[in-house]
Amino acid sequence: MNAATSLVSQGQDLLARDAGLLWHPYASLDAGARYAVTGAKGVRLTLEDAHGTHEVIDGMGSWWSMVHGYRHPVLDAAAHAQIDSFSHVMFGGLTHAPAVELAERLVAMAPGDLSHVFLADSGSISVEVALKLVLQYHHARGHTGRQRFAALRGGYHGDTFAAMGVCDPVDGMHAAFARPGAEQLFLPRPPAARLTVEGSWEFDAAEFTVWETEARALAAAHAPELAGIIAEPVLQGAGGMYVYAPAALRVLREIADEHDLLLVLDEIATGFGRTGTLFASEWAGVVPDVMCVGKALTGGYLTLAAMLCTPKVAGALDGAYGSGSALLHGPTFMGNPLACAVANASLGLLTGGGDPRAADAPWREQIAALETGLREALDPAAALSSVKDVRVLGGVGVIQLHEPVALAEVTAAAVRQGAWVRPFRDLLYVMPPYISSRDEIRLLGAALVAAVEHVHGS
Ligand SMILES: *Cc1c(COP(=O)(O)O)cnc(C)c1O
Repeated sequence: MNAATSLVSQGQDLLARDAGLLWHPYASLDAGARYAVTGAKGVRLTLEDAHGTHEVIDGMGSWWSMVHGYRHPVLDAAAHAQIDSFSHVMFGGLTHAPAVELAERLVAMAPGDLSHVFLADSGSISVEVALKLVLQYHHARGHTGRQRFAALRGGYHGDTFAAMGVCDPVDGMHAAFARPGAEQLFLPRPPAARLTVEGSWEFDAAEFTVWETEARALAAAHAPELAGIIAEPVLQGAGGMYVYAPAALRVLREIADEHDLLLVLDEIATGFGRTGTLFASEWAGVVPDVMCVGKALTGGYLTLAAMLCTPKVAGALDGAYGSGSALLHGPTFMGNPLACAVANASLGLLTGGGDPRAADAPWREQIAALETGLREALDPAAALSSVKDVRVLGGVGVIQLHEPVALAEVTAAAVRQGAWVRPFRDLLYVMPPYISSRDEIRLLGAALVAAVEHVHGS
């Protein structure tokens, strides 16, 4: 052992102090963190552990949120400028430019007539607000018996109590908790689908018909108790990185209309281009009554989410059916100016300041390049006998194994190969930053394939 290795590095020191002190997501107190981050720039993180320093490509994009890269000069400048003005001020009774500008941007980007905005401090909270709004909508119209939600099996909508209630009841990571409030209604998961290189959707039509019949019948049987339907459009994320046919969204839209239910689409993971359309609902041409966005909203800089709704929904609370009533939510840090300012800069980078759906909008070219790169880079995984499926949709790449991923071993192997990933269940997936170059995607894919091969065999 030489002198250098006997020194406790900054990272090792942090790991030692962290253990037993801090909880990490879905982890026991003692085993939360394996690496300390000592730097981040562009698509790369600098990690430290007992073995030294590792420069890795962040394949997770900080859990879907970091799209423009770390320390982006435009986002850094927006944050600095807002700090020099004011970082925070309460939103009760007050407003400010960053929030107004952000709401206007979101409305301009959102599909259809989603034109009213509630700023929330996290994705889960935006789901809570969406569910409250749906209940208040029916209440304002005198439909007080409509208290339940229909949700898709395999869904994930957040970790707070109401959001947990609409997550998959078995796989939703919340099985330890009694179901909060009314038991929700779970519709079967639509059949899996695949977007071909030519851009068409492949799925089993017979299976789809079975699903549709069952979903319609279940909803019809419970319609008088139902207030709304909630779903992640096209891609179910934390519930299994599962892609289903966009046509299912049209069925959900029809069910909602037929039974006077509101359709809530949770675009927290899929919004802002990730699946190849600006919002995933656009794959189906469906406009929800209520939409939640989060994750990539601030380019991964600060926590912020938003809920948008149509005039029909907002109007019900606004006195259209009698006396007006307030939307009953208002977090302390609502509309945080710093987060809004960075979000404005991030959305500006995605759209290039022009039409957000233009053929040459920056996000569109970036996602198209990511999709091509991921298809190439992950393709060799399909040849491994330990691999069950490889799928790519927009800027999302998934390797599904036949068995649960050996989390610690695969993570360590990937880090040695130069990639940061956080597998779950039988899934190893990446959602790289939009700015990733072709070479970086190639490196990322090669690291993943090598890690799977090393740990789970060829
Ligand atoms: C991450 C996520 C949430 C929860 O957002 P948080 O900011 O973690 O509270 C909700 N829905 C979906 C689809 C998500 O991916």
